[in-house]
Amino acid sequence: MHLFGTQSVDEQGHLTIGGTSALTLAKNYGTPLYVYDTALIKERALAFIQTFEREHVKAQVAYASKAFSSIAMYQLAAEEGLSLDVVSGGELYTAIHAGFPVDRIHFHGNNKSDDELLFALNAGIGCIVVDNFYEIEQLKRLTENHNKQINILLRVTPGIEAHTHDYITTGQADSKFGFDLNNGQADKAFHAVRDEKFIRLLGMHCHIGSQIFDTVAFSLAAKKLIGKMLTWKTDFGFICPVLNLGGGFGIRYTEEDKPLQPAIYVEDMIRSIRSEIGEADYPMPEIWIEPGRSLVGDAGTTLYSIGSQKEVPGVRNYLAVDGGMSDNIRPALYQAKYDAAVANKMTAEATTTYTVAGKCCESGDKLIEDISLPSVEAGDILAVFCTGAYGYSMASNYNRLPRPAVVFVEEGSHRVVIKRETYEDLVRLDCSLQGETVGAHS
Ligand SMILES: *Cc1c(COP(=O)(O)O)cnc(C)c1O
Repeated sequence: MHLFGTQSVDEQGHLTIGGTSALTLAKNYGTPLYVYDTALIKERALAFIQTFEREHVKAQVAYASKAFSSIAMYQLAAEEGLSLDVVSGGELYTAIHAGFPVDRIHFHGNNKSDDELLFALNAGIGCIVVDNFYEIEQLKRLTENHNKQINILLRVTPGIEAHTHDYITTGQADSKFGFDLNNGQADKAFHAVRDEKFIRLLGMHCHIGSQIFDTVAFSLAAKKLIGKMLTWKTDFGFICPVLNLGGGFGIRYTEEDKPLQPAIYVEDMIRSIRSEIGEADYPMPEIWIEPGRSLVGDAGTTLYSIGSQKEVPGVRNYLAVDGGMSDNIRPALYQAKYDAAVANKMTAEATTTYTVAGKCCESGDKLIEDISLPSVEAGDILAVFCTGAYGYSMASNYNRLPRPAVVFVEEGSHRVVIKRETYEDLVRLDCSLQGETVGAHS
């Protein structure tokens, strides 16, 4: 069995995370429960940052926070020296609320509203990653009307397709994101912003996909973007101080996934960039990357209580847990695969093949198909690994299930960083029909 980060098995055969028994956590905080191993998050952050330092390359490692956004997570990211990607006013609000240094916040998105952009301008954030021509017009108008300077990157699609599941690929030409690098859009965007008084162009950004397990796609993307940077220098004397190659570094969900160490991704990236610009005598840009999943994905484990079981003779054994697609939509959304273990039977032999189902009213609400586990009974605790990215952040109240609590664990201590929702929380925004109506009939 593969254990992640600080996970281990104690003398009683129970799973521990960050020095605390999973059973203690489940008992103290209830289930379902997201547990984050913060030592692993820190180790990953450091690995990315230190590789740039070792190579003497100026860099920003921006946590792509859509993977898991919360005040505590933002505070942890700030402490670890990470920068931050946000993709909405809500994430930006949370970051500012957390006290995240605004000059290290970068704002992404393909349809930012005027309100969101103005919020970012007024907050004085470090950079806006501009996605399309509409946004250029918005920014021209808003910066001028409000007398605000802003740094920007242009998001481009280099036409490099990273080998991964289609739904989570964003670097192809047929993408809703960014300016096409090959059909003249990127050049047009460059000309639209380069002489703007309130807009300072830092360079280009691309994000070529997710769960990428090799360095080739990043090298190809770097080569493409640098090619464009060189023509902007030759033709217009413009030098890009920043090159942002996005995120997408893969992690191990199951034994089929073979991720590289953060250092390998970064070293290869630096090597490609150095070789491209070296030949052309171009000054080394600051390199920005945006890991999301690889910072928090395998640091997260979801603990569930096992409840009912159903045998479909000759077909499969279902075991049901007290959560499901409401706290982890990824299996239903794009057939994501997960590994799991029975936290109170870590040393027992795996004898039975189960399909792990959730409790939502959807036949497709299955977390794992055909996993080999020890024989389980109601009350056992199932630990589903690698749920730290796009789990809580995509959680919903489907079937009016309250969203689980989130705890951080490290070196034997644990703390709640997001409280469990209550039934009261569920009706907090609901309005009763007993109030007065507004409009025609009143
Ligand atoms: C989602 C996203 C990331 C992070 O992707 P991961 O696969 O989680 O590393 C980085 N940059 C951009 C622009 C993104 O949209």
